[in-house]
Amino acid sequence: MAPTNNKNSIQRDITAWFAKAKRELPWRETRDPYAILVSEFMLQQTQVATVIPYFERWLARFPDFATLAAAGEQEVLSLWQGLGYYSRARNLHRAAQSVVALHGGSLPAEAAAIRALPGVGRYTAGAVASFAFDLPEPLVDANVARVLSRLLDLREPIDSTRGQAALWSEATRLVPKKSPGLFNGALMELGAILCVPRSPRCGECPVRAHCRGHAAGTAANLPAKKPRQKRAELVEHCGWITGKGRILLEIQTGARWNGMWKLPQLAATPKGIPIFSSEYPFTHHRVSLHVHKAPAPVKLAAQQAWHLLDSLDALPMTAPHRRAIIEIRRAQSS
Ligand code: SF4
Repeated sequence: MAPTNNKNSIQRDITAWFAKAKRELPWRETRDPYAILVSEFMLQQTQVATVIPYFERWLARFPDFATLAAAGEQEVLSLWQGLGYYSRARNLHRAAQSVVALHGGSLPAEAAAIRALPGVGRYTAGAVASFAFDLPEPLVDANVARVLSRLLDLREPIDSTRGQAALWSEATRLVPKKSPGLFNGALMELGAILCVPRSPRCGECPVRAHCRGHAAGTAANLPAKKPRQKRAELVEHCGWITGKGRILLEIQTGARWNGMWKLPQLAATPKGIPIFSSEYPFTHHRVSLHVHKAPAPVKLAAQQAWHLLDSLDALPMTAPHRRAIIEIRRAQSS
């Protein structure tokens, strides 16, 4: 795949457009590497508007690496609650502990050291290195992948090895030595505002003249992706076990929801009709959750504990199970 022409003009035109069109976002007002790292963790898989209040609350409670490193996991998970994908919170917590242990509480201005932190991949390392330290490091996230695949008229699936290589090679070639953070931010913003999925707003685009996808009429169909895997179906039967204003919950020990509370799993499939059912996605699965009234066990399992029904807000809990509890209580009180 040949690189795009007119690198200088692409750099200049995108950053000039960004100066006029960019959204004001709290993490754009700072060069604090800690705050930028927090924003990047939160923005993985979550929309900007959702992240803003979480970001502000997080920085008020954990203003730096040292404060976060010293916090307990339950408090960290509780403050993350509602953002989902809790492994990000756990990794951020561990990253803060690494920064304190290895770097005295300050992130070094070095892409390799940033990349070595838990939960930091190539994209996040590039974002923090360029936004916080103005290092000429490339980045490719979903927005940038879309923009570059269209600029290049890249027909390779962007989730293939060859497609990824083409995107990173172009991102590396385009990132300027002068103000790389500004350029990377501009490229991401172009993908978020104009070069959007399905209907790119090419008429307003500052790099339209250099865009091969626009010229070829293929832009709306790019980026190409590999065919989707069908989601496997899973069924989960849980117990609604309450009494004296309390509910029985169990803490998870699996990889994704480690440290989060949920309704207790029932050992056998109950015969009766569930009092609540819902569906939710989980990695490559589609889970059907069914909640049944059940008696209290004679002896609690090690991971089980009673919690006051009216004090669950601060408890880190998986979103589908929290929703189930809210819905069941609402139905019971109506
Ligand atoms: S011209 Fe259209 S497809 Fe090309 S980068 Fe601009 S918005 Fe995207």
